[in-house]
Amino acid sequence: MAEFYIEKTNQLIHKSDCSLLPKDKEATQYLGSLSNCGAAIKRATDYFKSANGCPECNAAFHAA
Ligand SMILES: [Zn+2]
Repeated sequence: MAEFYIEKTNQLIHKSDCSLLPKDKEATQYLGSLSNCGAAIKRATDYFKSANGCPECNAAFHAA
């Protein structure tokens, strides 16, 4: 399990330890502790239609 956050401006989903995750809590929304980024994307798309994996920490789930 890992903790996932979505960056509101570009709708990229980060793990909590990603270097690209904004330090400003206002800029992100916590998605929960989930098994993988695919589950995080599924959860996020209810609110963020263009949710996408971060190319740094979730490259396997990043759609270019
Ligand atoms: Zn990231």
